Amino acid sequence: MKKIYLDHAATTPIKKAVVDAMLPYLTENFGNPSSVYQMAQVNKKAVDEAREQVAAAIGAKAQEIFFTSGGTEADNWAIKGIVEARKSKGNHIITSKVEHHAVLHTCEYLEKNGYEVTYLDVDEYGSIRIDDLKKAIKDTTILITIMYANNEIGTIMPIKEIGEVAKAHNIPFHTDAVQAIGQVKIDVNDENIDALSITAHKFNGPKGVGALYIRRGVKVSQFMHGGAQERGRRGGTENVASIVGMGVAIELAYKDFDNKIRQYTQLRDMLINGILETIPYSRLNGHLTNRLPNNVNIGFEFVEGESLLLLLDMQGICASSGSACTSGSLDPSHVLLAIGLPHEKAHGSVRFTLGAGISDADINTVLETLPAIVKRMRDMSPLYEEFLAKQ
Ligand SMILES: *Cc1c(COP(=O)(O)O)cnc(C)c1O
Repeated sequence: MKKIYLDHAATTPIKKAVVDAMLPYLTENFGNPSSVYQMAQVNKKAVDEAREQVAAAIGAKAQEIFFTSGGTEADNWAIKGIVEARKSKGNHIITSKVEHHAVLHTCEYLEKNGYEVTYLDVDEYGSIRIDDLKKAIKDTTILITIMYANNEIGTIMPIKEIGEVAKAHNIPFHTDAVQAIGQVKIDVNDENIDALSITAHKFNGPKGVGALYIRRGVKVSQFMHGGAQERGRRGGTENVASIVGMGVAIELAYKDFDNKIRQYTQLRDMLINGILETIPYSRLNGHLTNRLPNNVNIGFEFVEGESLLLLLDMQGICASSGSACTSGSLDPSHVLLAIGLPHEKAHGSVRFTLGAGISDADINTVLETLPAIVKRMRDMSPLYEEFLAKQ
């Protein structure tokens, strides 16, 4: 059976061109970029080129890009590093209730260590309100960290407005752009972003490599103590092959970009409309248009999301029920609770995320498969039976 992979928000397949670019750095070009001989300078050049490629994708300068082991490290570094560097100015952080755990758990850790954190509420679509942000700012606010786009429901935050507020108050603004990169055009200057996290495996690059952009002049303390790599900010011998892979992957993610986005958006809307039209008691989580072009998140009433995923898997369709399952807990997603869904509706939600290679035919297969599965599950549901009896 052909697999239909609709979980690109979790990770993506690495592109062949990316693997090809990486291979020499796993074989003959094995030198340490810090070494002086020519053989190693090839590796230094390769890392420098990747830094240029990442910088170009977000309108930054190469010196403002620091390689990390992924999105989680970039988020940890940005948040802990900025507040530590600014602790003489205050101890207050503003974030939102719908952040990825890499941000939320970092903020919770800091709360236990003397920092004060405001977790902004979101509206029914998952977006913060600019007025709430303005009201939350205090004299002691030293960081605003709000994600660019949500990993579960795809909602895009009002980044430019947040950047303007942050700039007007002279507060550094960090954004977790892990889901947005390659899906949205980003310009750190136009949007007044001071720090930004990305990870390569979400845009068809290798796992275990990411980057943190830090605007020149924004102070951030060192996260990884060691050698002088990454201009003394992040010690450790560079993951050369993966860094090269990330550089190529980010360039490819923005190649023929408008066409790609048009195609994703069309497939996304085909899936959303198809489901809402054919499956009763289903609703879209997140905003209809202000969402990532590759994200579909649907709540199915009287259905348990995890079981639906297993039945879809038996038909070769890979989807996700959000991030809660990864923690091994049965708590419903904090994002779905934050947009106001009651527990049972949050539990019945499934995320489908598109990516390279997904076709009309794949979406049609999902649309042909899904109604019968949902019906089968509902036919076994006591809640559904009770609901029907009341009709
Ligand atoms: C995947 C993801 C991360 C974590 O990235 P890793 O590279 O897996 O550490 C952080 N934030 C968001 C929004 C993500 O989707």
